[in-house]
Amino acid sequence: MPGIDMDFLAEAASIESEIVRTRRAVHQRPELAYQEKETAELVAKSLESLGIKVKRGVGGTGVVGVLEGSRRGRVIGLRADMDALPVEEMADVEFRSKVKGVMHACGHDTHVAMLLGAARLLSNHKGDLQGTVKFIFQPAEEHGGRGGALPMIEDGAMKDPKVDFVFGLHIDSNRRSGEFGVREGAMMAAPDTFKVRIIGRGGHGSEPHRTVDPVYVAAQVILALQGVSSRMIDPMRPFVISIGAVHAGTKENIIPDEAILDGTIRTLDEATRKRAKAKVEEVAKGVCRAFGAAARVEFEKDAYPVTVNDIKATEGAITVLKKIPGMKVKKVEAVLGGEDFSRFLQKAPGTFYFLGTANPQKGCIYPNHSSKFKADEDVLKFGAASLAMLAYEFGKPRGPS
Ligand SMILES: [Zn+2]
Ligand SMILES: [Zn+2]
Repeated sequence: MPGIDMDFLAEAASIESEIVRTRRAVHQRPELAYQEKETAELVAKSLESLGIKVKRGVGGTGVVGVLEGSRRGRVIGLRADMDALPVEEMADVEFRSKVKGVMHACGHDTHVAMLLGAARLLSNHKGDLQGTVKFIFQPAEEHGGRGGALPMIEDGAMKDPKVDFVFGLHIDSNRRSGEFGVREGAMMAAPDTFKVRIIGRGGHGSEPHRTVDPVYVAAQVILALQGVSSRMIDPMRPFVISIGAVHAGTKENIIPDEAILDGTIRTLDEATRKRAKAKVEEVAKGVCRAFGAAARVEFEKDAYPVTVNDIKATEGAITVLKKIPGMKVKKVEAVLGGEDFSRFLQKAPGTFYFLGTANPQKGCIYPNHSSKFKADEDVLKFGAASLAMLAYEFGKPRGPS
């Protein structure tokens, strides 16, 4: 249908002030993982006001809206995450967080607002919409481990009707406003968190020979673990290991009984992931044994999988995104952050893409998760239009045209 794509952006522009208002309302009332009650209610009520069928409490605080088009077609899932972060907001905006120590520092407030915007655009087009659109608002993306996507999926978010294609976007401070970032295949890492408990034998700091010093052993373990990346993993495959926390001891002249290391590894394919986890355990245990200590290594269960964008669906999405006037579509490198949108991509083909929000002229220069993070609100209409267009085009029985 000629001109239809132009219409979605023009329509998004016509509701821009509403999208911004929603975004600011959510921004001022940020809620941490699994506590997204007010946000979920705002989402549910907005969807209902558009005549969209709503299911509340999906997998905790999740909300699913179902919009049936007037004509037959495919089922498209669009997802936004709703949770905020434990950060005290220092951003230079008038609509700062009103909740102490909690902030939408990852921009999930913008995701909520853009998806609600897309819901309005699509419900306006119900008459010529083919297929069904499911609006999936998930809790607890920042939770890590189990996260919010898995409980929603277990609670049936991707079934009845079964989702054929799924799309999600993330606002990205590394990219200029006016750009979409896309990638076929692996786009984001599996973030595996682990804990190494080093069990020694404490004693007096003046008599180390009568102890098994877990602090010393911990230092050796930290150094040795970097050897996993440089000596044991194929250098052509991305792999990172970082120890972010070291806990041991109470006083300078006491050798403690134990030391604990907390770390994370990031990989972009399942084979490397499996090998890396095995090697981390082997090296940590081996080093401890060499110095007479014992080691217990535990990886967090249910860590997020690698986010893998379906190649064909991504090609189709690129065709759709390229039709949006005023936006560039750029291929991007994979990043080693994790995303539990990966869970939805295990259930249906689709793509996760980035929406640039860096704009130095407006002071939008701080990274996601920073206490000064500031999103460029001028990009929200493009994000809303893109989500609506993906659902509209992929909903057609033969996909985007
Ligand atoms: Zn985040
Ligand atoms: Zn995020």
